[in-house]
Amino acid sequence: MILHESEAIVLRTWPLRESDLLVSLLTRDLGKVRGVAKAALKSRKRFGGALEPMTYVHATYAERPRQELVRMDHFEAIASPLAHPIDYLRAATLAYYAEVLENVLPDHDPQDAIFRLTLAVLEQSRVDHCWMPLTYFSLWVTRLIGWLPETDRCTDCGQSLAGEAAYFHALADGLSCARHKKPNSSMLGRDSLELAQRMSRDPIRAMSGEPWTRQSGQDLRRFLVRTLERHTERRLNSADALSRLGG
Ligand SMILES: [Zn+2]
Repeated sequence: MILHESEAIVLRTWPLRESDLLVSLLTRDLGKVRGVAKAALKSRKRFGGALEPMTYVHATYAERPRQELVRMDHFEAIASPLAHPIDYLRAATLAYYAEVLENVLPDHDPQDAIFRLTLAVLEQSRVDHCWMPLTYFSLWVTRLIGWLPETDRCTDCGQSLAGEAAYFHALADGLSCARHKKPNSSMLGRDSLELAQRMSRDPIRAMSGEPWTRQSGQDLRRFLVRTLERHTERRLNSADALSRLGG
């Protein structure tokens, strides 16, 4: 048995039998792991207040020989999303982070840059301030996992998209210029292309004071969600919730 102590982020829990929970945990040392938290619903001492999705925790867990599931021993909350006010948009945003990480990350593959990105966007995601961190997270997670196509030129002809709108299709890779857009494409506006380039360059803190509405970067988010969905071949339910909120 190998004991681990690591910073981690709780992604999701499922009820098992009695008061046991199955937990999906994004750990800093080992990447995504799944394990059983025995009597989690009864033990305030071992897991008190630290099982809510997107809680940043100090986790103690054990890998067991020849077993896929780890044994979750103890979580101590470092930062809880419930420490700040929550509304429907912030709840949907947190659910989106959890679902994306759950869907895109392979098990047991530590990705420190994605871990740090997640902490940075969690810190920024407040009531009335979710659209920017949501967009930033979508762009960077797509890029860090290696699925972001070039955003500055047409995939078909290589022509620069500077100062132009671009087009994307749910079933195709990359962005196209107006000449090569496929039937039933969606448009990614010039402002959003510039935004994508700025987000690729700047730390999130540099953007935190900017005024954002649900329309800001809306087409960019849709493009990124379609890209993530196409690569994972799974629909993001939380993205539907966000889209119903106008984002
Ligand atoms: Zn083209």
